[in-house]
Amino acid sequence: MSVAVLNATQLVTLAGPRRARVRAEMRELAIVPAGGMLIEDGRVSRIGPSAEIENGLPADSQVIDATGKVVLPGFVDAHAHPVFGGNRVDEFEMRAQGATYEEIAASGGGIRSTVARTRATSEEELLAQAKKHAGWFLANGTTTVEAKSGYGLTVEDELKILRVIRRLNQEIPLEVVPTFLGAHAIPREDRESPERYVDLVINEMLPLVAKEKLAEFCDVFCERGYFDIEQSRKILSTAKRLGLKLRGHVEQLTNSGGAKLMAELEATTADHLEKTDEQGIAALKSANVQPVLLPGSVYALGSISYPRAREMINAGLAVVLATDFNPGSSPTPSVPMILSLACTQMKMSPAEAIAASTINAAYSLNRGDKIGSLEPGKLANFSIFDYEDYRELAYWFGFSRAHSVYVKGDCVHNRARL
Ligand SMILES: [Zn+2]
Repeated sequence: MSVAVLNATQLVTLAGPRRARVRAEMRELAIVPAGGMLIEDGRVSRIGPSAEIENGLPADSQVIDATGKVVLPGFVDAHAHPVFGGNRVDEFEMRAQGATYEEIAASGGGIRSTVARTRATSEEELLAQAKKHAGWFLANGTTTVEAKSGYGLTVEDELKILRVIRRLNQEIPLEVVPTFLGAHAIPREDRESPERYVDLVINEMLPLVAKEKLAEFCDVFCERGYFDIEQSRKILSTAKRLGLKLRGHVEQLTNSGGAKLMAELEATTADHLEKTDEQGIAALKSANVQPVLLPGSVYALGSISYPRAREMINAGLAVVLATDFNPGSSPTPSVPMILSLACTQMKMSPAEAIAASTINAAYSLNRGDKIGSLEPGKLANFSIFDYEDYRELAYWFGFSRAHSVYVKGDCVHNRARL
């Protein structure tokens, strides 16, 4: 059974070199005007002007008419925390009244309050809540999401979250890429003995995660009050020895040397980077670490300290944008909202922002050969938006204009059917 998308006002393919895009390449979206695409067995088989695709269409083809619409690859959200219990709406109100994220964390709130809720939630309930979040991602045009553990902070609860992530992948069309983030915070019970917790992550959690193949990546929250450079180095180098690839939450609140550490360890990505300076940017470039920028968390924390996206692009870094979806600092699953923030607050162009949240994000998850662009042989993961110009994706904000979303050629979200 084949599927044909015809008459797209703009078919945004992102066809190009088989690697993450840098500098001026990030502005080249390889748009086919009046575009068409043939899909066979869940993969893109032909792409080009609609009239050519329509010619010689297999007789049994299902036709999707994209007249007046933009078609683009499904967004790849390379940094998210979608599995957690409860939410943090109480703290949201406290922050609105002036409390800072660090003050709330010091008084027992923040990540630790989500940890308490997540520990008290069963695997089945966590799965049900995560499936609800997965539906939000799909409805906003995202077809692949990275998913971190990190709200368990015991062997049992971290494994519980990673099993939920594995089940999400099996039970829903959204592709979910698992990351172990046992070093997300020091749990309350180890507040006086952080080294005991670091040893637990290294000696018990990581070997089990690797043995059961529950994660592809290992991440740490390297920050004042969380894990320092030395602890982060120990955890990440153990993970690397066990065959995991590396990501890291670094330099969100302080310029701590986290970017240099990620370069030293040849991590795949360094995430956040709000406080990263020229030396940090140069270090990332020297090891080709991809920066993952998370403007949603800057916005939602009420900060104005956005990462230096322009300097990173000028330095030749393959910038990635992601939501950082989580209940505390970035409660949004919407990549279009992130595109808006990237353009208005970090002065990226709409094209750069789209490349950062599709093809570059796909490479940052080791999936650049399968997703992130619409090219023959790649998975037919794409979205159709009610726009005639791709720049509208970043221009309108605060509501979703996703008309329909497809994974491997199957419709997984259709606004008309809701
Ligand atoms: Zn995060």
